[in-house]
Amino acid sequence: YAAKSKTTTVQLYDAGLDAGSVQTLSLLSELRRAVERNELRLFMQPKLRLADSAVVAAEALVRWQHPERGLVPPLDFIPFAEQTGFVSQLTLWVFDAAAGLLAQIGAGTLRIAVNLSTRDLLDLEFPARLDAILDRHGVPATGFCLEITESAIMDDPQRAQAVLQRLSDRGFKLSIDDFGTGYSSLAYLKRLPVDELKIDKSFVMNMEKDEDDAKIVRSTVDLAHNLGLTVVAEGVENALIWRQLRALNCDEGQGYFMSKPMPSADFLHWAQRWHQGEVLTHTAHGSLL
Ligand code: C2E
Ligand code: MG
Ligand code: MG
Ligand code: MG
Repeated sequence: YAAKSKTTTVQLYDAGLDAGSVQTLSLLSELRRAVERNELRLFMQPKLRLADSAVVAAEALVRWQHPERGLVPPLDFIPFAEQTGFVSQLTLWVFDAAAGLLAQIGAGTLRIAVNLSTRDLLDLEFPARLDAILDRHGVPATGFCLEITESAIMDDPQRAQAVLQRLSDRGFKLSIDDFGTGYSSLAYLKRLPVDELKIDKSFVMNMEKDEDDAKIVRSTVDLAHNLGLTVVAEGVENALIWRQLRALNCDEGQGYFMSKPMPSADFLHWAQRWHQGEVLTHTAHGSLL
C-alpha cells in the first residue's frame, strides 16, 4: 500500500492483495498495534428526527489516527479487516468506546448506532460479548442501534437470523444499513427482527434533482412504514432534501447538511448548540422547523 498524502486520503487497502502476501501481514500487524497504541478514534454523526429536528441518535464511525499517514477513513481499512477477521476486534473496540460515551451522556437521552460486520453475524457468541461490555459500562442494550448491511445478512441468512434474534431479545434496535444497494430479498425483511431501514445515501443525495431517486426514496419510506419499521435517510446534504424527506414522512435524517462525523468529544457540545439553534444560521435552522 502507498500513502498518497499524510493528512487526507490514503490507500491502505488493495483488493488485489492475497491473504498471504507480505503487505497483508504487515498491515494486519499494524492494525493490531493501532489498537494497542490507542490509534483508533471514535467519530459521531447525529441522526435527527425530521418532524422537530431533535437529535435522537448518533452513529459511531471509526477512524484510524495513523502516526505518519494521518486520519485514515474506514473504507481504507475495514474491507481489509473483514478479510482477515480482525474486524471482530474492531467492532468490539467501537462498541466499547460507544458504551463509554453513552455512560457519559446518560442512557435514555439518545441512542448510539454501531455498525456490525459480516463476521459478527456469523458468531453465535457475539451477543454475549456485547453483554460483557454493557455490564462493564452499566448501560442498557436499549441505548443502542446496531446497523447491519443486506450483504452481511445474506452471507449465511440462517446463522445471521439466530444472531439477530439474540440481539433483538436483549433490546438492541436493529437497522438495515445502505438499504436498496444490496442484494435485496424482501422475504427476510418480514422474517428478521429488524426495527429500522436506512436508505442509502446514493438515492438521497440527489433526490431533489433526480425524479427516479425521489421515487425510490418515497417507495422505501412507504415500504418501511407498511412493515411497521422506522425509516432513516442518510446523505441529507441540503435543506431542500431535508424538507422533501419530511414531506414524505421519513422519520429521521443524517447528513452533511446537519453535520459531518465529528470527534466524539465534540459531539455533546454540538448537540447542545444544535438544540439552541446555534449550528446553522438562524434562517436555515428556522426553515427546518
Ligand atoms: P455507513 O455505515 O453507511 O455510514 C455512513 C457514511 O456516509 C459515513 O462515511 C458518513 O460520513 C457518510 N455520510 C453521512 N452523511 C453524508 C452526506 O450527507 N454526504 C456524503 N457524501 N456522505 C455522508 P464513513 O464514516 O467514511 O464510513 C464509511 C463506511 O465505513 C460506513 O458506511 C460503514 O459501512 C463503514 N464503517 C464506519 N465505521 C465502522 C465501524 O465501526 N465498523 C464497521 N464494521 N464499519 C464501519
Ligand atoms: Mg452505518
Ligand atoms: Mg449507511
Ligand atoms: Mg451507506
